[in-house]
Amino acid sequence: MLFKNITVLRADGTMLENVNVAVKDGRFFSIGKELPWGEWDSYDGSGRLLMPGMVNAHTHVPMTLMRGYGDDMQLDRWLFDRIFPFEDKLTGEDVYWGSLLGIAEMLASGTTSFSDMYYFCDRIAQAVIESGIKANIGRGISCFDKSKRFNDLPAFHEMSELIDSYHGEAEGRVLIDAAPHSEYTTRPDILSDVADFAASRNLRVQLHLSETNKEQLECVGRHGKTPTIVMKDTGLLNLPVTAAHCVWLSDIDMEVLAECGVNIAHCPQSNLKLASGIARVDKMKKLGLNVALGTDSAASNNNLDMIEEMRTAALLAKGITQDPCVLPAGDALYMATRAGALSQGRTDCGDILDGYRADFVVLNLNSSEMTPNHSTLSNVVYASCRSNVEMTVVDGHVLYCKGEYLTMDIERIMHETAGRVNSMLAR
Ligand SMILES: [Zn+2]
Repeated sequence: MLFKNITVLRADGTMLENVNVAVKDGRFFSIGKELPWGEWDSYDGSGRLLMPGMVNAHTHVPMTLMRGYGDDMQLDRWLFDRIFPFEDKLTGEDVYWGSLLGIAEMLASGTTSFSDMYYFCDRIAQAVIESGIKANIGRGISCFDKSKRFNDLPAFHEMSELIDSYHGEAEGRVLIDAAPHSEYTTRPDILSDVADFAASRNLRVQLHLSETNKEQLECVGRHGKTPTIVMKDTGLLNLPVTAAHCVWLSDIDMEVLAECGVNIAHCPQSNLKLASGIARVDKMKKLGLNVALGTDSAASNNNLDMIEEMRTAALLAKGITQDPCVLPAGDALYMATRAGALSQGRTDCGDILDGYRADFVVLNLNSSEMTPNHSTLSNVVYASCRSNVEMTVVDGHVLYCKGEYLTMDIERIMHETAGRVNSMLAR
């Protein structure tokens, strides 16, 4: 593929005007004014912008099935009256179709990779492989039963099978992470066993951390230390970790996470909707933490649109600090792209550079909300919307173009998911 005469926006916000971008064998082959030698499948890039695909660093993709099923409720009631009873009825087949629905939404809004924590993860992996998107998938681990060891848990066996069957599958598009759910759902000795297991299998780790004030306070009551220190003492923070939310971190927690090189998955819209609070992203960035962005699930967002998430992150950081210079557009773009790829351990993804994986989005700049073009970066972060996404490409494969899915039957996916939700509610 050769994109001629196109504008390139890199992850750090720098621009290249009117360049030619060649993609070969799933990677960027050449980017510049020169036309590459040879025969190419050409695409006219005038009036178009080529930017890195966005990385959704924290979600639970099958929960698209619960979109709108419980809103405007206290967290406890939302979980215990709506989400948990619904999840009790889910089958692997439901999870597969719900995953496809979420992936379709992500591709149409410019996301090329996501990090997920759920169950029936083999079905999520199959949806990822078939659709062509990338994902780091973790089987959520939680246990308070004192009679059980980590090796006794179904999650341990499912995780082991997942690693054997799917880790590195589809030319590395699928990676399996260890996913201890959180301090408040898991005993510390089990967290330690997960850390040992993840280290022995060379896995990355996804977990939830300090999402609510209640979680933070109850943990201190239970263990005399914060969730961050509990996680550190179990050995988990010696591994490459992505910690979602991090709303209620103390200053010391933040310093510990920075020392351990933990990646943060900031989920501003979910934190707002569940009234969890507002993470101190400005301080995290000053400490050098890699802060990525996630939507969290469609049950608490209620969409998987990373363009919206990027704008919300930028606006919220300004509002909470009362400083409009905080989290400028280039930083927000980096969080939505390269920081997410790094949080997944995908060091050759998330930017438009020679030799990097060709995961990118083409935006159409010929629209009312993108006009006039004083600053393309500003328009992308502060004015664009998913309808500007013309093409989404993963590893050089076009998966979505001008409203059409090339690997997915969207009509069937919507029909199946609606039907499954109805029959589940009837049960
Ligand atoms: Zn979550």
